[in-house]
Amino acid sequence: MSTPGFAGKQGRVHPIVQYPDPVLTTPCAEVTEFDDELGQLIADMFASMAAADGVGLAANQIGVSRRVFVYDCPDADHVRRRGVVINPVLVEVPLSERRLDDDEEGCLSVLHQFSAVARPTTATVTGADEQGRPIEVTGTGLMSRCLQHETDHLNGMLYIDRISTKARRRVLKDHAKELENLRL
Ligand code: ZN
Repeated sequence: MSTPGFAGKQGRVHPIVQYPDPVLTTPCAEVTEFDDELGQLIADMFASMAAADGVGLAANQIGVSRRVFVYDCPDADHVRRRGVVINPVLVEVPLSERRLDDDEEGCLSVLHQFSAVARPTTATVTGADEQGRPIEVTGTGLMSRCLQHETDHLNGMLYIDRISTKARRRVLKDHAKELENLRL
């Protein structure tokens, strides 16, 4: 199977780390070197995201605790957006301008589970591209949700930290069952 490359590098597919692995709940380290190794990590992340049929992936989801996420995700106008953000910081939207939707959300690290999560309909992150140049990415619809979800990951947070205790208990119980089935 061929996998999407990045900047001329062929990506290697890694398994997706599953909750409750501690790498998912530990804040990731800032990237300071924009070198070949980072390029390879990004290529591996694109390949792993595609293989898992995801719309976004954070580096700690393949076990690398560094502040990098990739996305390949449609926005509210169904335009496909694909890219990488290094050291992302979410730009706070003033409360008066904030509109929420509470669509279902899932995560490759909490296999096959979904729950409604209220999030702002538009989100912007600032950060750097693979060469360390400053970038700003704004998303609407699913892309807004993706930018927030992936930035959360790099801060050691999952969507299950943003839902009710009852919903979280249900999701984690079903997730544990899924993992057990995989091991059988
Ligand atoms: Zn996730």
